[in-house]
Amino acid sequence: MGVEDGFFDLGGHSLLATRLVSRVRSVLGVELPIRALFENPTVAALDRVLDEAARARTALVPVPRPETVPLSFGQRRLWFLERFEGAGGNVSLAVRLSGALDAQALRLALGDVVARHEALRTVFPDDDGIPHQRVLDFWVPGLGIVDVTESGIESAVQDFGSLPVDLAVDPPLRARVLRLGERDHVLLVVLHHIAADGWSLAPLARDLSAAYTARAAGGVPEWEPLPVQFADYTLWQREVLGDETEPESPIARQLSYWYEALAELPDEIELPADRPRPQLPGYRGGSVEFGFDAALHGELTALAKEANVSLFMVLQAGLAALLTRLGAGTDIPLGTPVAGRTDEALDDLIGFFVNTLVLRTDTSGDPTFRELLDRVRDTDLAAYAHQDVPFERLVEVLNPPRSLARHPLFQVMLALQNTPDGTLRLPGLDVTPLPPAPADAKFDLGIELVERQDGAGGPGGIQGLAHYSADRFDHGTVQALMDRFGRWLASAVAAPDTRIGAFDVLSTDERDTVLHRWNATDHALPAGTLPDLFEAQAARTPDATAVVAATGQELDYAELNRRANRLARLLIEYGARPETLVAVAVPRSVEWLVALLAVSKAGAGYLPVDPGQPAQRIAHVLGDAGPVLVLTSGDDPRVPAGEAYRTLPIAEGERLCAGYDATDPTDAERGAALRPEHPAYVIYTSGSTGLPKGVLITHASIGNLAAVHIDRLGIDADSRVLQAVSTTFDPSVADTVMALLAGAALVLADPERHVVGDQLAEAISTHGVTHLQLAAPVLATIPEAGLDTLRCVVTGGEACSAELVARWARGGRKVVNAYGPTEMTVATTMTEPLTGDTTPPIGRAVWNTRVYVLDGALGLVAPGVAGELYVSGVGLARGYVGRAGLTGSRFVADPYGPAGSRMYRTGDVVRLLADGQVEFVGRADDQVKIRGFRVEPGEVSAVVAGCAGVAQAAVVV
Ligand code: AMP
Ligand code: MG
Repeated sequence: MGVEDGFFDLGGHSLLATRLVSRVRSVLGVELPIRALFENPTVAALDRVLDEAARARTALVPVPRPETVPLSFGQRRLWFLERFEGAGGNVSLAVRLSGALDAQALRLALGDVVARHEALRTVFPDDDGIPHQRVLDFWVPGLGIVDVTESGIESAVQDFGSLPVDLAVDPPLRARVLRLGERDHVLLVVLHHIAADGWSLAPLARDLSAAYTARAAGGVPEWEPLPVQFADYTLWQREVLGDETEPESPIARQLSYWYEALAELPDEIELPADRPRPQLPGYRGGSVEFGFDAALHGELTALAKEANVSLFMVLQAGLAALLTRLGAGTDIPLGTPVAGRTDEALDDLIGFFVNTLVLRTDTSGDPTFRELLDRVRDTDLAAYAHQDVPFERLVEVLNPPRSLARHPLFQVMLALQNTPDGTLRLPGLDVTPLPPAPADAKFDLGIELVERQDGAGGPGGIQGLAHYSADRFDHGTVQALMDRFGRWLASAVAAPDTRIGAFDVLSTDERDTVLHRWNATDHALPAGTLPDLFEAQAARTPDATAVVAATGQELDYAELNRRANRLARLLIEYGARPETLVAVAVPRSVEWLVALLAVSKAGAGYLPVDPGQPAQRIAHVLGDAGPVLVLTSGDDPRVPAGEAYRTLPIAEGERLCAGYDATDPTDAERGAALRPEHPAYVIYTSGSTGLPKGVLITHASIGNLAAVHIDRLGIDADSRVLQAVSTTFDPSVADTVMALLAGAALVLADPERHVVGDQLAEAISTHGVTHLQLAAPVLATIPEAGLDTLRCVVTGGEACSAELVARWARGGRKVVNAYGPTEMTVATTMTEPLTGDTTPPIGRAVWNTRVYVLDGALGLVAPGVAGELYVSGVGLARGYVGRAGLTGSRFVADPYGPAGSRMYRTGDVVRLLADGQVEFVGRADDQVKIRGFRVEPGEVSAVVAGCAGVAQAAVVV
């Protein structure tokens, strides 16, 4: 190579860099930080910085052994783990040997390897709990040969691997041959972790191959003695790193580096997992094989060169950025193993050198991928420069909040193996590795990558294995995640100057699924305003019971229609017409229902007011909405007389119009054609302003509202639908239209007597109610025993528990969870009938409705990832009465819908499940629900009082 050739251009990577630094140290006697190599990757450039480099640290050479040799920093932790938890762990070689095996040669060869590596004949006795290394001068491992059958291999391997050891007396290596036949064997070599790491398998295989080859030929292996032994390393490590308790020692300085680098690290990151973390770990795991093709491998390598980072750094940046986009936040700690062989004298040594580094990856501020690579380079080089502190010691020092169920400091591991793996080469034998036994899942996710070379030594693809914790992940989810990782890297290398927030996380197919397939809700419905639809129903079933009051009073459809028609004509005289509002401040009763319909027939929008609410709130609603008329129950002092509107007691109104024409009013009478875009109702609700605001729903939304409920809940002419939620709460409109547009009977709960629990149970049984919808916490108060007529229960308004569902679903009753903000006409999503086996989702978009789960930049998030729910479709409100600004900020352009369409930002955090159902996660803001009512901080008293009888319980909340 020439003096101007770049180290990384020629295929250098972090591990080789470490070796180069070590070579520079031993040949030139100077200490070159790895960072200097990254910054000066050519010989010419390096030459200039070498002069300034510090004098090399003490060379690693064989040293006279003191009385007792202590354990290395890393060994100490393993010793503790083994001693107190029996969990020090193993590294093993398990290979199938076909051909003529020379067992005697193998036995001798094992002895040769053990003779060569002191670590393999070291035991760890302790004095008063302080262990030291005792190297046995001579020890030859036994090599038992046992007969097994093919089906017995797996358990034989497992049993041999899990034999208990006493480190004080047992050398850390054991070996066994399983004999399957004359020319068919399995060789097992199990090394305790305290004597070997994964990198040790290469020298083990190399040395064992050489020794067997020599022994099989009747000779002895001829090899150069190892430059140093593990005990030399241990003593050198002590000398170079010093004592942690001395603040100026290198090891103490390294510790303080980590202390700062990992300050305020998140306890854990949010992963796109299938399940939340259990209290106790199951340790069950699985693994997924995946790969990146040679083309992508080549592009990744090229970007690494161009950006002056290692391939690992590109992969790390890619993974961190992807996790960020998958909802993990912007502070992403990733674990990675480092070989720990920081001196070239250690290259061929079997021993425990490996360490784990926490690479804290800062993805905040939406950097471009290239900027992120710069950050990663900085972080990683600093981490490599402080890699001597054993991870376990770091955990002790940092002492993060512990949980048995998660790995401390990081939950995702990323490793790029650059070392050639240890392949045994034994003359006369075909050697094939056994598939690795399923390992305990230590991390939520552990991603191991291995570079392959093509014929010419160029990038030949990257092979991957992702281990996952089965506590949290399903196989398919991890598979999809790794596919996503590959696609993500491909887009990153194609456009490294793009901000990480701007890349697509979804595949074209996924995008199609979440956008279109799961939103394929188009469903043709008969057009018509509420009066149109109701009048058609009254004409179809004039004699059917339309309404049953708590008092027992009943009206049929014809009579209800006539009464509403007469009152409508009076309301028109009072100024009701399209685009006006008429408030109905009448408690739930037959009169209330007549008033609701009459307002609609007059062409006005219905504005419910609960006379049970505090005067202040009523005054706000009436002042804000500006109705032309308020229908009252009479002399209610809480409904103030206003300057801008008139008031009319409902009884007086009905008296005044007793002689009026009872046929359906016409557009001509209304003074203007009533069209679908005219207001059908205005409901006041809370959220984001501190003051209740009026949500204006048009007639265009009503037909869908009714049809969805009628279809999903199975309402027919025999149904009896209870109306029990407050009339100021939009499900009351749903109750009304789903009954009255299906020819069913609407049963009116008494607003004073039928509010919670037993009272509601009584209303249900007295009136033979078949359908009921209530906010989850209210439903929870009702004893369900004996309510045999009740066929269907809809819960919603708040998250409901599996227990609640299970209780009501008993005996096969249909239980549906419905979700919807007032701004989207009551129901946006609904589930299929639930059983309560698992936490209920909120279901799928109802007819003519689209749901999107989006990130902060209105990009689609992947299924499984939490994002904010945006909704759009026929139920979308026109907006907030008199609040153009607020309307504009919550009802925004729908980038995924037809041109000009809008969507509503719900403020709900949800995720899409694999089957397309939506799962409710929580709120993005401070809004809470009390008994189904939206409440903002500061507003509690007003709304609570508004819940009438429910108030007592709610005040406690
Ligand atoms: P409202 O406009 O009063 O219907 O309130 C709508 C809000 O109630 C939603 O934005 C959610 O926060 C919450 N909500 C409604 N239905 C559900 C449900 N089934 N599960 C969880 N939260 C719900
Ligand atoms: Mg709702």
